[in-house]
Amino acid sequence: MSGPNTSFDPVEVAALDPATIDQAVADALAAAQAAGTLDDLKTARAAHQGDKSPLALANREIGALPPSAKAEAGKRVGQARGQVAAAFAARQGELEVERDERILVDEAIDVTLPGGRRPLGHRHPNELMGQRIADIFVGLGWEVAEGPEVEAEWFNFDALNFDADHPARQMQDTFYVDPPECGLILRTHTSPVQARSLIERGVPLYIACLGRVFRTDELDATHMPAFHQVEGLAVDEGITMAHLKGTLDRLASELFGEGATTRMRPSFFPFTEPSAEVDLRCFVCRGNDPACRACKGMGWIEWGGCGMVNHNVLRACGVDPERYSGFAFGMGVDRALMFRTGVSDMRDMIEGDVRFNAQFGMEI
Ligand SMILES: [Zn+2]
Repeated sequence: MSGPNTSFDPVEVAALDPATIDQAVADALAAAQAAGTLDDLKTARAAHQGDKSPLALANREIGALPPSAKAEAGKRVGQARGQVAAAFAARQGELEVERDERILVDEAIDVTLPGGRRPLGHRHPNELMGQRIADIFVGLGWEVAEGPEVEAEWFNFDALNFDADHPARQMQDTFYVDPPECGLILRTHTSPVQARSLIERGVPLYIACLGRVFRTDELDATHMPAFHQVEGLAVDEGITMAHLKGTLDRLASELFGEGATTRMRPSFFPFTEPSAEVDLRCFVCRGNDPACRACKGMGWIEWGGCGMVNHNVLRACGVDPERYSGFAFGMGVDRALMFRTGVSDMRDMIEGDVRFNAQFGMEI
């Protein structure tokens, strides 16, 4: 619309009709009051104060009026726009006060409450038990040795005097790495570390080995396909079974308290001769309670296996059995943890529930 329009047409400037303007103001005031939030108010403001609102349209129409009518129309529209602007500004103020009050309530900080803390992590009790056992041996002057979990069949069986047809080699006990002819398995015990250490380090040798071992057992309350063993090996001149017994008793008293003792029962293992099962004097009842749950009234708890290192093992590892002798023993770390802590289901140890670990806390 360029230049003043000299032919006043009331239809064309219907937007300037006083009733229309009053209605636009009433609508705008109602919309401002109805806005419940600052976002609603913004939307209402765009509709009633924006470029396309009725009052903006009316304002634009003033230019089309004859000069004589412009002043009055301009005043009317100006007052209307001022009224609407004031209403929106007032409502804006009210809503801002409401918002600020709400924030003060919603985001209030009670400085008297204890602060939120991240819970501390915990080492797995199995790890703690393994370290505790390693510390005992280091205290005796032994070394801690490690070996691979994927092991050569030769180290796991042949070097340890297992016959070629020994049942432990069967697929139902041992995890073989595919293809089977590659000669690799998941170690079934920590004993291959004995053979590796004898070959690599020579004699005299005093080592403890801790680690994960694997057998094709189903997972239940007392069996796991992957579990932890600790193994000890001492080879030197003049080593006897008395040294073995003394070492086991020392380990027992360090782990289960002063006075804990062990006993041996004859047994058989391919890599030791003679061989024995090791039992632990019940650390709960010390053999004095027929109703004891820890030992089921037996007074003794099965703990592991041990024996004097078989001469064939020494020979396979290049050690002269005429000059050197040695003892070896091994036991389950998971089982020791169960006795020591009263954990009745092994599955709790591997399910990774942090609540299980947390109850053991930290040991330093
Ligand atoms: Zn008992």
